Amino acid sequence: MTVDTPSVSKPPWDLEAELRNRGAILKGHFLLSSGLHSDTYFEKFRILEDPTFLRTLISSDLARLQDVEATLVVGPTLGGALVAYQVAQLLGLKAYYAERGTDLPRIFRRGFRFTPKDRVLVVDDVLTTGHSVQETLEAVRREGAKPVAVWVLIDRSGGTVDLGVPLWALYQTTVESYPPERCPLCQKGLPLVEPGGKKRS
Ligand SMILES: [Zn+2]
Repeated sequence: MTVDTPSVSKPPWDLEAELRNRGAILKGHFLLSSGLHSDTYFEKFRILEDPTFLRTLISSDLARLQDVEATLVVGPTLGGALVAYQVAQLLGLKAYYAERGTDLPRIFRRGFRFTPKDRVLVVDDVLTTGHSVQETLEAVRREGAKPVAVWVLIDRSGGTVDLGVPLWALYQTTVESYPPERCPLCQKGLPLVEPGGKKRS
């Protein structure tokens, strides 16, 4: 490891081209779950559907993940749980999964047991606002364990989200998103696509 660890690792291949080829990076006019419009959409399941590819991606950043010296890996359902499973397998650790709760945004069910000594690596697929990861960090702290780092496949915030622990991404980019009334793509009359296959206009 170098002293000055960059926030984005450099895999030995053109990761962006690979993600585009697989349809994990889509260009067009998209309605995001936040209600904002964007010219870019990350379809995380084009990564998650291929466990061998997912494993290759995680392996390319394994040294950094090992350096965290975590005792446990946690991911929010659904995509983050799949990433957590694979990261934990490569690190030889257990993976716990944070699920949506009714009173609290994220909770642990299934009898998962934390200890105060646990150093928790929180992982997820695509980070946009960081809400899902933030909720997972809070759920870990509520269980009395200590989150030590966050690792995501794709950080579309450009590294601007402050989670209070180090945030690392395999692929980091800044993607513009717009309120519908100020969307330049709407002004051009481009059809709006709601990811998942539905067309809005
Ligand atoms: Zn628009």
